[in-house]
Amino acid sequence: MALLTKAPRGTQDVLPSQSSRWQYVEATLLNTARLFGFKEIRFPTFEHTELFIRSVGDTTDVVQKEMYTFTDKGDRSITLRPEGTASVVRTALEHGLLNDALPMKASYVIPCFRYEKPQAGRLREFHQFGVEMFGSQSPNADAEVIGLVKNCFDTLGITDIALEINSIGCPECRPKYLKALREYFAARQEELCPTCQERLEKNPMRILDCKSPVCHDIAKDAPTGLEYLCQECKEHFEGLKKRLELMGIEYTVNPRIVRGLDYYTKTVFEFISQNIGAQGTVCGGGRYDGLIGQMGGAPTPAIGFAMGLERLLLVMDQCGAEFPPEQGCDVYIGSMGEAASLKAVELTARLREEGFSAECDLMNRSVKAQMKYADKIGARYSVILGENELSTGACQLKNMKNREITELKLDDSFVDAVYQQIMHSCYMDLEDSVEKMEL
Ligand code: ATP
Ligand code: MG
Repeated sequence: MALLTKAPRGTQDVLPSQSSRWQYVEATLLNTARLFGFKEIRFPTFEHTELFIRSVGDTTDVVQKEMYTFTDKGDRSITLRPEGTASVVRTALEHGLLNDALPMKASYVIPCFRYEKPQAGRLREFHQFGVEMFGSQSPNADAEVIGLVKNCFDTLGITDIALEINSIGCPECRPKYLKALREYFAARQEELCPTCQERLEKNPMRILDCKSPVCHDIAKDAPTGLEYLCQECKEHFEGLKKRLELMGIEYTVNPRIVRGLDYYTKTVFEFISQNIGAQGTVCGGGRYDGLIGQMGGAPTPAIGFAMGLERLLLVMDQCGAEFPPEQGCDVYIGSMGEAASLKAVELTARLREEGFSAECDLMNRSVKAQMKYADKIGARYSVILGENELSTGACQLKNMKNREITELKLDDSFVDAVYQQIMHSCYMDLEDSVEKMEL
């Protein structure tokens, strides 16, 4: 029975009182992406399991430990998406998006699913904002995508976040690096966790971001990839750094960053906060020039990132970022008696037709209780209708903030008159805030 009123472990409810925070953040992120020419793409919550095994990579934590995979009634293996990139590549290939003018740019806000140990900033259902750009191999693309993240953080008022970048090379230069890593880790093979012992042959780079403390410790002195980069990768990385400097974006090079997914090449980056606990990586991304070819498309360079919205909100709270005030009720129309209640229903409907947020009594409350409710929902104005108002055809519109009263007729001019008052009070609020800014 208790299960009936308890959400599954690792999930989070967003209550009506909190949802405007999410709406604001999501709208800001998608709008910022739009400024950079990224349009929203939507794709299914589940895909064929094979898609993630092939693209995310079968030596990753995500595929080895974290996927929500099940067999559907048609005997297909289905997986709830653990991330968005694989699906965007699949969508682009299925719909021929790469045949249009390149680069192809797309953004998304999606729930993702990973079977992990829940803790602060780590859930089983979480949300990502991400973008993907297909077709450009220029470091301009890397700089643009990183610049987009920076712009999002600036717009949301996030201050305490640091950019770390690295290059993990390409199929040309990586084998040499992997060989060096294999040699390094082989010497301490017995100490590695069982998963990493298996990874040693196939993908020793994965050991660098293993969450086990022992592996983490051993990895500290492992050789770093930067000295193994080929000429092209080196130039690309230098090109990115130059652009970030020109754009005034601060960064540090962290050769430890390899990212958790198999498909990355060349540039990888993370935006990290020191103030939200162990799960400080708010955004991770990078280049994955090999993935589209590997999935059967024409070889196409690509870059993208994903940002965790739960962690983003934690950072916003931590650094005191402001959220816009909630849009409340414009007018509450209270009433006393059946005839007045009918009139209230009619006027409320007319106000809503004109785009106002209006409410009337649904609870058969006393006038006093109705006014208390109007206060509680933060109504900007209120009106009370009773026998007197109906017989005189006039009512009093009360400004709930400064208690000012305006006489209004209860005829066709009512909605217009309310509109005038609301505009007036918006103007006064604006003047107030300008005055405050000037002080
Ligand atoms: P971590 O190292 O924290 O496990 P990751 O490398 O698995 O992260 P990515 O796959 O790169 O993460 O996902 C991008 C972003 O999505 C992360 O930086 C984080 O903000 C968010 N994220 C990933 N997994 C979770 C989760 N289980 N709960 C909440 N947010 C998550
Ligand atoms: Mg992870």
